[in-house]
Amino acid sequence: MMRQYELVERVTRYNPDADEALLNKAYVYAMQKHGSQMRASGDPYFSHPLEVAAILTDLRLDDATIAVALLHDTIEDTDATRTEIDSLFGEEIGKLVDGLTKIKRLDLVSQKAKQAENFRKLLLAIADDVRVLLVKLADRLHNMRTLGHMPEHKRGRIAEETMEIYAPLAGRMGMHDMREELEDISFRTLNPEAYETITERLADLRERNRDLIASIEQTLTERLSDRGMAALVKGREKRPYSIFRKMQRKAIGFEQLSDIYGFRVTVGTMEACYRVLGVIHTTWPTVPGRFKDYISTPKQNDYKSIHTTIVGPSRQRVELQIRTITMDRIAEYGIAAHALYKDGEFGGRNIARHSEDCRAFEWLRRTTELLAQGDTPEEFLENTKLELFHDQVFCFTPKGRLIALPRGATPIDFAYAVHTGIGNTCVGCKVNGKIMPLVTELHNGDEVDIIRSQSQTPPPAWEAIAVTGKARAAIRRATRESVRKQYGALGEHILKRAFDRASKVYSEDLLEAVLNEHSVSSVADLLAAVGRGDITAQNVLKSAHPDYQDERVAVPGPPSEEGWFGLKQGYGLKFRIPPSGLSDESANVSSPDGDASGPALPIRGLSGDIPVSFAPDGGAVPGDRIVGILTPSEGLTIYPIQSPSLKEFDDQTERWVDVRWDIDINNPERFPARLDISAANEPGSLAAIAQIIGENSGNIDNVKMVQRAPDFHQMVIDLEVWDLKHLNRIINQLRTKPNVSSVSRVNG
Ligand code: MN
Repeated sequence: MMRQYELVERVTRYNPDADEALLNKAYVYAMQKHGSQMRASGDPYFSHPLEVAAILTDLRLDDATIAVALLHDTIEDTDATRTEIDSLFGEEIGKLVDGLTKIKRLDLVSQKAKQAENFRKLLLAIADDVRVLLVKLADRLHNMRTLGHMPEHKRGRIAEETMEIYAPLAGRMGMHDMREELEDISFRTLNPEAYETITERLADLRERNRDLIASIEQTLTERLSDRGMAALVKGREKRPYSIFRKMQRKAIGFEQLSDIYGFRVTVGTMEACYRVLGVIHTTWPTVPGRFKDYISTPKQNDYKSIHTTIVGPSRQRVELQIRTITMDRIAEYGIAAHALYKDGEFGGRNIARHSEDCRAFEWLRRTTELLAQGDTPEEFLENTKLELFHDQVFCFTPKGRLIALPRGATPIDFAYAVHTGIGNTCVGCKVNGKIMPLVTELHNGDEVDIIRSQSQTPPPAWEAIAVTGKARAAIRRATRESVRKQYGALGEHILKRAFDRASKVYSEDLLEAVLNEHSVSSVADLLAAVGRGDITAQNVLKSAHPDYQDERVAVPGPPSEEGWFGLKQGYGLKFRIPPSGLSDESANVSSPDGDASGPALPIRGLSGDIPVSFAPDGGAVPGDRIVGILTPSEGLTIYPIQSPSLKEFDDQTERWVDVRWDIDINNPERFPARLDISAANEPGSLAAIAQIIGENSGNIDNVKMVQRAPDFHQMVIDLEVWDLKHLNRIINQLRTKPNVSSVSRVNG
């Protein structure tokens, strides 16, 4: 552990005017307060604030910042109070320690929405004085360096927070060394295999290129000294995480990376930078398009340097950075270095004031001011999204609550991010006051107002629209539940009918008693299984009433009569076309209303409350006599009684279900129908047919030419109609046309 005098010496070495008494007092106070507390590593706790202080002496920070580093954990972890620190060290230091205490309590890798809120608090805590951030970053760096001592389950979370918040923040402040070290340790923790692979390849490459690096370094140093220029030439290799990120961003392999190696040439003056550039460009061929002058146009975080890439002796691309010592310090330490070299004088104590002139701090100041005002969210987002959270969008509730979402998120994601209950009842949305579709991609600063209806259940198709895991999981859960309920309702209906026909009592208690027999755990499950067609109503009936005699067994008959057993049980088989063949008309005439065996199951189209599908090409429209066929695991499929496909189910009477239309005329739904039309092959005859259908407000879905003879066309038209009356009107209108020779309905 560093001794007290060693720490003081480190500070006075770069700042002879440092307040030694302050440093000594803070050292002793923190050591006493932390007392016998231990780190996870087994070291005395005090070694931690001491190391944090040491990191900050490397950044050559002022004595107040070093004192704050020593004290930074005392309020949170010992019996020290803000009042006590204020009275011993002054209010300035007390305030800084207080800021660090607040940050320590933030959980920055909570759910995304909360994370944005906590990030906002973090920025506010560092708003007044950038030294809070500098101490926090040093604190995090030391914690990352000693991460191996933490329990394994905590490491990932800390590394994630470092990668997502602190490393980009360090980068935004121009502290690149800090950023890279934070990133590399996080990377090693979060993705050990990738880290291992890259470091191995790097070591391998280093070995192979040892001569190349030495040769470039030597050539350059000689050339520069030939021209009387003093320059420091240093080879440098990219850090593992920076390589990994580049490989991911550009989707390329390690071998394709061209700039793993680089050189940094440090000189005394800005003019010298351009002279060095001249020497480099006359020594090696350069790679076009890689020259960048960040001296005349500095980066937003004050980074200044000249970049150029040359083709080295073994045709290797090598990047060179040319800069002055001052630029180098700013490039490495960013905001921390800025005060130091302002006008060549030492910034010392007043780093906070001096650093106000640097652009990184300007960014921080502007951002936090906007946050404090809280009324210009767009600008706030414009500023913060630059480097942090570049893959997120920030939106607002009408009350101004900030919701952070991944890029590409929709109002559905927004609704679920606010609350699962809001997502489940969402039926529409307003974005910035305008009604918008729910598939709209949200943008930064959008205000989203979710329109809700309590009767809503999320449609399964939403799962494909939502991008957040939370929304997807909730939609899956809600639709699974609603589908189960629907099958349950269908199953209950089928069972009640079956019990009724057999003149047997139906009750939930009876079902409860036979759950085991059917291997289900609840009545709801049993009903759903019957609704899905996985368990037949007959079997449930027999188990609930063992005295029940299945009529099919009791009255055997010749195979030709087989289908008519259904009639006795009221399964709707009377609508079935007997082998002799009934015409469509006679099928329509026979009515189920006189059926004494109870009401048929109401079918409300596809949007009803039971799981129904319509037979493909079946062409059932309201008004048609219909039957339902129970298909295991799928529920009910609706066929018009005249459908030839029904023959397949003749010998499976237990699958037939009596159904009837129950269409809500206030909420009309269109149904597909198919017509077979023959018409004279005259110019405009197809147009005339289309016109009749259109005039009668039918929708044409598809037209298929079946036969094209010189005199006649035969075609199949798929159209959508409200009901049978509507369809018949269209058919009759078509038949009146002189060039139409025949029109008939097709049922699959
Ligand atoms: Mn700490």
